[in-house]
Amino acid sequence: MATINDNYLKLKAGYLFPEIARRVSAFAEANPDANIIRLGIGDVTEPLPEACRIAMIQAVEEMGDRSTFKGYGPEQGYAWLREKIATHDFQARGCSVDASEIFISDGSKCDTGNILDIFGKDNTIAVTDPVYPVYVDTNVMAGHTGEVNDRGEYGGLVYLPITAENDFTAEIPSQKVDLIYLCFPNNPTGATATKAHLQAWVEYAKAHGSIIFFDAAYEAFITDPDLPHSIYEIEGARDCAIEFRSFSKNAGFTGTRCALTVVPKTLKAKAADGTDVELWKLWNRRQSTKFNGVSYIVQRGAEAVYSDAGQAQVRDLVNFYMDNAKIIRQQLTAAGIAVYGGVNAPYVWVKTPHGLSSWDFFDKLLHTCHVVGTPGSGFGAAGEGYFRISAFNSRDNVEAAMQRITDKFKA
Ligand SMILES: *Cc1c(COP(=O)(O)O)cnc(C)c1O
Repeated sequence: MATINDNYLKLKAGYLFPEIARRVSAFAEANPDANIIRLGIGDVTEPLPEACRIAMIQAVEEMGDRSTFKGYGPEQGYAWLREKIATHDFQARGCSVDASEIFISDGSKCDTGNILDIFGKDNTIAVTDPVYPVYVDTNVMAGHTGEVNDRGEYGGLVYLPITAENDFTAEIPSQKVDLIYLCFPNNPTGATATKAHLQAWVEYAKAHGSIIFFDAAYEAFITDPDLPHSIYEIEGARDCAIEFRSFSKNAGFTGTRCALTVVPKTLKAKAADGTDVELWKLWNRRQSTKFNGVSYIVQRGAEAVYSDAGQAQVRDLVNFYMDNAKIIRQQLTAAGIAVYGGVNAPYVWVKTPHGLSSWDFFDKLLHTCHVVGTPGSGFGAAGEGYFRISAFNSRDNVEAAMQRITDKFKA
């Protein structure tokens, strides 16, 4: 009989979101008249920017005409899109990223997982705790970990706790790690990194020959002009960092699918025989072999993000969600609840009141306010005692949910 990849058996059963769904549907069944508001999802709610829609409609028309029809595109993405990204997202911020170092893909979720294809099996891997679960689970699947313990931690991974005590920025480890996942602005905590913090990571990585995986999916939500949007704003990052970006959150492409990964040509790691190998060559080979590019239509939609109209519409979209975040922060603070994040990120990270556990606070909000959020403990052991509230929702839902919470919690 055929055998399986046994590493999949080490994965904790998808616990967080199924458990949320189970508790919400049990409550809804018992209380059919309750109007439940869901502020737990990490998905956008507002429609695609008009500039993107117009560009995609035009691209569909081109695909319907023999003279402008397109078959397979370049595996790396069309040059016209990569040039726009290089100019607007990187060079305009002083980062020396060339269009040839940008790889267009159908998502950062898959890229952050797929990148492991080009790395060896024996790297020491560090993640923050709490963390975006994809980073951990893809390492489990690749056989880079041991078994999970009852705190939900996998053997072999280095967990770097991020809590209010360290301002949600991980302490630079004292031991050597080879691969480090950083996500700023952060999902789930909404925390950001200063240039000085990223500089310390870059120096650490260069000293140890480590590679930083920098997930900048939420860079568009940064409002503080002093915060870096890209790791390549940091001196030396071209020698130690891969950056992931996505059109999912800034332009509402979660269902349309377009993202990008930057692999600088100066980035190297060691082969078994001790020679230095350019990672760009390996990632190019990997993508050319296992991927056939993002749809022409979607790439034209993404390109429209960089038009004047697209830039204005994306800014409006981001501002809309950030106004939601501001309402969430203000109302919860008024209700006497401590909040973090939500200033440069669409997530508000709540300290559960009265020392409640993450799940007890979840139940309390659900039962007394009919509001759903995400227990922080679902993102890692150090998320216990915290709770994520997402700003991705309609204004009406956000206002109604916050009204209910202030009514119940205000002393
Ligand atoms: C939403 C999100 C992404 C984007 O994923 P896509 O696959 O591009 O939709 C990447 N990283 C984090 C942490 C996210 O929350």
